[in-house]
Amino acid sequence: MSGPRALHLAAGVLATLRDHAAEAAPRECCGLLTGPVDGTAPLVIDRAVASANLAPDGATDSFELDTALHLSLQRTERAAGRRVAGLYHSHPVGEAIPSRRDRAGAYDHTLVWLIIGPDGTVRAWWPEPDGFVEARIEVVS
Ligand SMILES: [Zn+2]
Repeated sequence: MSGPRALHLAAGVLATLRDHAAEAAPRECCGLLTGPVDGTAPLVIDRAVASANLAPDGATDSFELDTALHLSLQRTERAAGRRVAGLYHSHPVGEAIPSRRDRAGAYDHTLVWLIIGPDGTVRAWWPEPDGFVEARIEVVS
């Protein structure tokens, strides 16, 4: 199944992602993105939850989300009629496009990926069997 080609991102979340990326540099930051379940496009993301980056110390080109955080967030969001809709991480160097490592790690095709570039640019990507496809971000208040 293909994800929607546009998503609405709350302005506060955008600011949080940029802050988190700046704090984590030169390492990658990472976290999860949640929003309401409304069954209609575009997808809405209105909350970001930071995760520890569990990639080995010193790694500056990889991230690993905290699986326990992911599971507990799934439970609490579901109980509130919401869902985990995506994940984010930063690229302290390079561009806000999926790396080879990202492409290899994109196993869950229900989550949109937001990548924060070194200059604060944020781009959205859907993992699909043939690779990532970019989605348009519309920032909403
Ligand atoms: Zn990456």
